[in-house]
Amino acid sequence: MWFAAHGRDLPWRRTRDPYRILVSEVMAQQTQITRVEPAYLAFIERFPTLEALAAAPTAAVLEQWRGLGYNRRALNLQRTCRAVVERHGGRLPDTLDALLALPGIGPYTARALLVFAFEQPVAAVDVNVGRVVQRALAGAPLPPRDRQAQADAFNAPAPWATTQALMELGAPYCTARRPACADCPVRDMCAWNRARSELVAGTAEWPDPAAPPTRPPAPRFTDTDRYHRGRLLDALRTAPISAEQVPGAAQTNDAARARRLADALVSEGLAQWWQGTLTLPERGEHRVEAPLPEGSWVEGPG
Ligand code: SF4
Repeated sequence: MWFAAHGRDLPWRRTRDPYRILVSEVMAQQTQITRVEPAYLAFIERFPTLEALAAAPTAAVLEQWRGLGYNRRALNLQRTCRAVVERHGGRLPDTLDALLALPGIGPYTARALLVFAFEQPVAAVDVNVGRVVQRALAGAPLPPRDRQAQADAFNAPAPWATTQALMELGAPYCTARRPACADCPVRDMCAWNRARSELVAGTAEWPDPAAPPTRPPAPRFTDTDRYHRGRLLDALRTAPISAEQVPGAAQTNDAARARRLADALVSEGLAQWWQGTLTLPERGEHRVEAPLPEGSWVEGPG
C-alpha cells in the first residue's frame, strides 16, 4: 500500500497509547505538523502518562504549551485527563458515547481515539479527510454526515492505515486551493480527477466538490486579539504581572483592550488574580481571587 511506503514517520504513529494519541490529536488541531512533532515529544517527556498530566499544576501545562497557540486546548486537555482519572480510573474509554461524555472531546477527537488507539472500524474525518472523501471517493459535494458515512465504509477493512492514508493525502497532495493531482498516488482512482480528465478539451472545468469558500482578506496577525492575548499569556509564563503591567505585557497601548483580554483569560480559566497580580492558574498557592474592580486598571503605556 502507498501509505506503508510513503507515509511520514511521526511519533504518534508508532504508538497505540490512547493518552499519547489524545495529546497528538489536540496539538495537531490548528497547528502545523512540523511544529507539533518537537512539542509533542517534549510534552510527553514532561507528562509521560495521563495521570501525570492530570496531577500537574495547570500553570506547568500552560508553560509546556508555549509556542503552540490556542492555549485553551491545553486547559481542555488537562480537564479531559482529570475527568478520565475521576470517572474511568485513568483509562480512556473505548466507546463513542463514553468518549463524547468527557469534557473537551468532540466527535472528531472521539473517533480519532477509536481508530488510532483502539483500531476500531470508524474514520476520523477532519477538514483534510473530508476534502479527499468528496473529491476522490464521491466526486461530488457531500454534507458532513455523508462524508463520515463514506469514510467509515471505505475504512472498514483496514481502519488505522486507511484513515492515516486519507490524512496523508489531504496535506501534501489534496490541498484546498491547489490540489497536486499530477503527482497524487490515487489520481487514477480519484472520482473528481477522472471526471475532469474525461471532459472534452475546451469545455468548462468540472466543479471542485470541495471548493474552499471565498473569504475576505484576513487582518494582519499582529493586529488581532489572538496575537495580543498570546503575548500576555507568554508574559505570564515567565512571571506573574501586576495590573499596571498588563497593557505592556499584551503589547498594546489600548488599556481597555488589555483589560478585556485579561478578563477573557481569567474567565476561561487560563489565568487568575492572586494578591493583586495576574498569574497562571495553580501557580504557587492554588487560590483564585475575584477580578480586580474597575478602578484598579490603569492606562497603558503611550
Ligand atoms: S487526484 Fe487530485 S483531487 Fe484526487 S485525491 Fe489526488 S490530489 Fe485530490
